Amino acid sequence: MIEKEYDYLIVGAGLFGSVFAHEMKKRGKKCLVIDKRDHLGGNVYCEKKEDINIHKYGAHIFHTNDKRIWDYVNQFATFNNYINSPISLSKGKLYNLPFNMNTFYQLWGTKTPEEAKQKINEQIAKYGSKSPKNLEEQALSLVGKDIYETFIKEYTEKQWGKKATKLPAFIIKRLPVRFTFDNNYFNDRYQGIPVGGYNTIIDGLLDGIDTKTNIDFFEERDHLEALADKVVYTGKIDEFFEYKYGQLEYRSLRFEHELHEIENYQGNAVVNYNDADYSFTRIIEHKHFEFGKQDKTIITKEYPEAWNRGKEAYYPINNDENQQLFKKYKEESLKLENVIFGGRLAEYRYYDMHQIIASSLAKVEEISRAEQ
Ligand code: FAD
Ligand code: UDP
Repeated sequence: MIEKEYDYLIVGAGLFGSVFAHEMKKRGKKCLVIDKRDHLGGNVYCEKKEDINIHKYGAHIFHTNDKRIWDYVNQFATFNNYINSPISLSKGKLYNLPFNMNTFYQLWGTKTPEEAKQKINEQIAKYGSKSPKNLEEQALSLVGKDIYETFIKEYTEKQWGKKATKLPAFIIKRLPVRFTFDNNYFNDRYQGIPVGGYNTIIDGLLDGIDTKTNIDFFEERDHLEALADKVVYTGKIDEFFEYKYGQLEYRSLRFEHELHEIENYQGNAVVNYNDADYSFTRIIEHKHFEFGKQDKTIITKEYPEAWNRGKEAYYPINNDENQQLFKKYKEESLKLENVIFGGRLAEYRYYDMHQIIASSLAKVEEISRAEQ
């Protein structure tokens, strides 16, 4: 048998593919990482403009409870002490997020946890006992009508392009509800932004590894597959199988970047626009992720959009119908001994960065154990 040039062809230079390549190189394997975009890093890629690191594919805040994952990323970058505390603009008023004592005060004037709890309990009394079957029921039973209608319903429906009654409850479970004056969006112990942006981490992971950008796997599939013993695929799972069971649903986004000749546009990195009147969901002001002092500022408006085959898929839509379809592709994928499927699109899961890193490390460890 002719020996192939690479042990692994890795399709997708996002975090999953980059961690996989890095770990396999450490184990003496030769990897080629390709990406169809004109850069490495996948969705965490940052572009420097006006000396500001622009999160080109939307705000990325690193957070984890897992010390192992925190230590892992800290090998490649120093993290600053940024804490995500988004502001919400709703019906002309500003509120703190996530839902906490500040939000309750701004919404109802409640000053103590007891007052706030009483208010919420009155509101959820009608829904509390039922087990929630969709996002709307989940939200109503967790925080009640006022919060649901002020912050969740319109934002969620524009974000996902579906009625909240047609969306899975788990999406909203990500949002903390607290009876302390604490605007930290995440409950995790470790949080921050890599100083110099996320490319520092990707550059560290891919140091010494062969990479090629502007290459779409499907355009040169036979040639590329012939280069390596195994393929690690991090693109859309249904596309890999030529959509043979049908198309999974995704949500796409459009990012509009604007340069403003002022020092400070909105005073915060993230402002959510919760009303349906705005077709974007949030405005990101990138310099605030790194406490920037530049004279100018760059902002990004994030517009949710319907996905079709020509567009980037950013979010899987994990409702029952799609999960059923995904199962078929998953079963098909398990039959392929020489292809490993990983990452947000191939696993069709709403994963955050720390979860992607953990799953890539777990995959490498599983393969290494099997080879011993
Ligand atoms: P990706 O980064 O999507 O990488 C996959 C790569 O594969 C892409 O570069 C793509 O171009 C390439 N590819 C696909 N098909 C092909 C093909 N046919 N040929 C060649 N290349 C191909 N996580 C957090 O922890 N905190 C956050 O604050 C956060 N904010 C987010 C905000 C937004 C708007 C989005 C969309 C995601 C956010 N995430 C956040 C999630 C985070 O982006 C992901 O968990 C992570 O980047 C996924 O890594 P990945 O390698 O699976 O996928
Ligand atoms: N969400 C909402 N109002 C908000 C922020 C979030 O209703 O002000 C809901 C919405 O359904 C969203 C989900 O919570 O899809 C998760 O939001 P988050 O900002 O945590 O996720 P991201 O879009 O950054 O992955």
